[in-house]
Amino acid sequence: MSTPGGIESTLQELRSFPPSPEFTAQAVIRTQAEFDQLYQQSINEPETFWRNQASNLTWIKPFSRVLDWSNPPFARWFTGGELNISSNCLDRHVAAGNGHKTALLWEGEPGDRLAISYADLHAQVCRLAGALAAAGIRTGDRVAIYMPMIPEAVVAMLACARLGLVHTVVFGGFSAESLADRMNDAKAVAVITADGGYRRGKIVELKKNVDAALAKAPSVRHCIVVKRTGQPVDMKAGRDTWYSDFIDSFSGDAPCPALQSEHPLFILYTSGTTGKPKGVVHSTAGYLLGAMLTCKYIFDLKNEDIYWCTADIGWVTGHSYMVYGPLACGATVVMYEGAPNHPDFGRFWEIIERYKVTVFYTAPTAIRAFVKWGDEYPNQHNLKSLRLLGTVGEPINPEAWTWYHRVIGGGRCPIVDTWWQTETGSIMCSPMPGITAATPGSCAIPFFGIDLAVVDRQGNELPPNTGGYLVIRKPWPSMLRGVYGDDERFRQQYWRDIPPFYFTGDGARRDEKGFFWVMGRVDDVVNVAGHRLGTMEVESALVAHASVAEAAVVGRPDELKGQALCAFVTLKAGRTPDEKLKDELKAWVTREIGAIARPDELRFTESLPKTRSGKIMRRLLRDIAAGKESVGDTSTLEDYSVLASLRADQE
Ligand code: ATP
Ligand code: MG
Repeated sequence: MSTPGGIESTLQELRSFPPSPEFTAQAVIRTQAEFDQLYQQSINEPETFWRNQASNLTWIKPFSRVLDWSNPPFARWFTGGELNISSNCLDRHVAAGNGHKTALLWEGEPGDRLAISYADLHAQVCRLAGALAAAGIRTGDRVAIYMPMIPEAVVAMLACARLGLVHTVVFGGFSAESLADRMNDAKAVAVITADGGYRRGKIVELKKNVDAALAKAPSVRHCIVVKRTGQPVDMKAGRDTWYSDFIDSFSGDAPCPALQSEHPLFILYTSGTTGKPKGVVHSTAGYLLGAMLTCKYIFDLKNEDIYWCTADIGWVTGHSYMVYGPLACGATVVMYEGAPNHPDFGRFWEIIERYKVTVFYTAPTAIRAFVKWGDEYPNQHNLKSLRLLGTVGEPINPEAWTWYHRVIGGGRCPIVDTWWQTETGSIMCSPMPGITAATPGSCAIPFFGIDLAVVDRQGNELPPNTGGYLVIRKPWPSMLRGVYGDDERFRQQYWRDIPPFYFTGDGARRDEKGFFWVMGRVDDVVNVAGHRLGTMEVESALVAHASVAEAAVVGRPDELKGQALCAFVTLKAGRTPDEKLKDELKAWVTREIGAIARPDELRFTESLPKTRSGKIMRRLLRDIAAGKESVGDTSTLEDYSVLASLRADQE
């Protein structure tokens, strides 16, 4: 079957997991009819729908217009309106009498713990915001945040948001070089950091990296340092201040200005899975509304939930689903500083048991690691408090999905497989937990107001089960407003391929039920003897084998077939990587999906190259499979030694 969209689909996944009647009975959306009515309105009368939904936010000045799309691709939402994000996340809960409610349940890697109420968090944010304003940092200035996962990181984001300072959070695992690049691109005037943070029992020397970065980032005038680990650090007079001294220097009321709906909230650089990171810009009202509504409907978030999203604040998931979305909803948020395998493989499950977490959101890369480590760790803990599970970041292989459902969810929790991007700001496609019978590997149905489609190169919608390009055909409130300082890259990257639509860069198909199946990046599609295959499906077949933990499949040039399939496979603990298993796995893929998908070459490896957010970097594997000496941009690679060992294996 060759198709106009050009990507063939070979995956057959027919299992279906409806929510339990008990879950549905308490869900925010309980019936298909209720969902359909709202969805229809969101697509047919978007202005009415968004106008109504915008009443979930607290406005200082009401907006006059829902959407201004007169200058595409530059959207303006809720124009004329004014609000303050930090006041939406904090002040309004305090004002409603919920100041005593726990906002953050924090746990450091060494085991230190804190519970911070909404009133406390509000007070801390006001003090930092006041001190930042007193230091002369002005609305619109950019502030870099390079911090471990400690409460002050959330305080820093909200304090910037309160003043209208544009934050750019840089993941604490990035090098001095990457930090300097991002601060220079954003022309940051200040950086908020810590002396260090804990990761796998060791100290990450954040301040040392900042010092090296600041030598190359002349725009930064202030460096504010939280004392986390207490190890000695250099403090440069006139530039560096301890956080505690900085906030003590200010007393009085912090300003809480009314900011326009379109005021920029943050710049965030993408993970860099496909190339050089882009400085994605998000603005105030539309972003917050997207993050908040998806929390309410997709995580089914209620007042009594204890919600834990394991993402670092350095990623968009940490922005939308650890900070802005759940706090705007007034939820109790769990925050953990360290690694999932410290001091042992049971740390996450221990945290879920201790805080009685009800909603848990993590990434496929983590789930595949849990599978690899073994069931005994989750089985030692009481996970009965959980009622909903989520995943984001990569396509989830059906085997990993069913493991998550069975071992973590005890068979009773719906799983929301949420597809979205740094650029989309909030979840675009996901099951609706109270009504959708989920199918492993599918991110199901578009969210309200999201006109998601699978199209060919010309933008024509493709028939069911035909692979093609995933696009969004109408603007949505939490969409990116641009690439910082580079309108041309914004147009080029997202709007020129399939005009006039927003092109996601991902390949997908839609099945006969209307469910979406993301097949991976279109750049990763492999062309084997005239068949264009999405690699995710071959990978899922490999992962379904009892010995396999993870797999990545890429194409390498082949004289006869155009491209040959090369599979990189990591095994579960205790399996032997021998020729016999290689042959068995190749035969397994042939049996599961057909001879066309049989890997021509299969290599065992200890680990796969990943971005620091845990996504497999197939572009590097492509270069390795092709035997290239040097590979593309590796600044976002998590572990450089992986490349060296993959190369060594080749010899
Ligand atoms: P860059 O754009 O710099 O290459 P990136 O695309 O990895 O980096 P993110 O914005 O963090 O940066 O990731 C978004 C991408 O992650 C999506 O385009 C998609 O490829 C993948 N993704 C996220 N969630 C899912 C999901 N639930 N199912 C399938 N793929 C997903
Ligand atoms: Mg991307």
